[in-house]
Amino acid sequence: MKTVGYAAFSSDAHMQPYHFERRDLRGNDVAIEILYSGICHSDLHTVNGDWGKQHYPLVPGHEIIGRVIDVGPQVTRYQVGDNVGVGCMVDSCQACDQCDHGEEQYCRNGMTPTYGAPDRIDGEITQGGYSKHIVVREEFVLRLPEALDPSRAAPILCAGITTFSPLRTWNVGKGSRVGVIGLGGLGHMAVKLAVAMGAEVTVLSRSARKAEEAEGLGAKGVLVSTDRGAMKAAAASLDLILDTVPVRHDLKPYLPLLDVDGTLVIVGQVGDMDDFASAPMIFGRRRVAGSLIGGIKETQEVLNFCAEHNIHPVCEIIRPDEVNDAYTVMAKGDIAHRYVMDMSSLAVAD
Ligand SMILES: [Zn+2]
Ligand SMILES: [Zn+2]
Repeated sequence: MKTVGYAAFSSDAHMQPYHFERRDLRGNDVAIEILYSGICHSDLHTVNGDWGKQHYPLVPGHEIIGRVIDVGPQVTRYQVGDNVGVGCMVDSCQACDQCDHGEEQYCRNGMTPTYGAPDRIDGEITQGGYSKHIVVREEFVLRLPEALDPSRAAPILCAGITTFSPLRTWNVGKGSRVGVIGLGGLGHMAVKLAVAMGAEVTVLSRSARKAEEAEGLGAKGVLVSTDRGAMKAAAASLDLILDTVPVRHDLKPYLPLLDVDGTLVIVGQVGDMDDFASAPMIFGRRRVAGSLIGGIKETQEVLNFCAEHNIHPVCEIIRPDEVNDAYTVMAKGDIAHRYVMDMSSLAVAD
């Protein structure tokens, strides 16, 4: 199938139109016309080559909302016309213990990311959502609940699941005291989801500038991490901290905020930490943990949860030809919303 998208042709992260082909449908494949495609901070890092060498041209994008336009003969779950989503993975071995219990992101044989990795069957490099069409095996296609606005649902598929999964893993519920570091694409979803689960949420920020924004999302308030007095007064006041900052930073100021048995979960790609103090962990049985997206079953759960609680990410809708401008803004710092591309202006050449 002929399609068109926006691709990086080298590590300069400049996106250009790219005409390419999607594979012919296999028995269990679903062909999707992409309607909306979210722009994730990790797209920028990946095309830049920050996380290792890439195959170019590379079409990024793993927050995909679209409509089914064709299905393979063995497909049972989807029909032409269904509104669906695709997130950060498009395949896994489907045979190991992790795949068996719905944690394909930790597949023993390595899951297949939505873009930039070899397909398990033909070895072709996967290409993501900044395109008009995608072909994905049905096990990795999500159902878009009717209550969700398709134009604002795409970021749930990465930013949403990445924060939802640790909130569930650490049993956040009514009365949980949750801190969120960073109020970008991930952080703002973390606040909305944790509030909907009944938690009392505090945003940890370097300045009080974000207070109004945080409260607008349902947070109790902002704790300014550069205010030593306020940080001291907040000691042992949190059960869980979600650290969404996607660059290297010091965790030490945050650990004393955890109560006994509290956990700080890293969901951003922080890289190596050169300075790590064990004392705050020992004195309080505190933990530092990590978490990667979520399984397919849980991704469907977060979509359903957002539908049930009327949660939509804060989105700014742009055209695909504005992607480079969006990258420039994102590279400068965190923004408390997600850029989502409306793909309707993309046309496939004859
Ligand atoms: Zn992402
Ligand atoms: Zn597996």
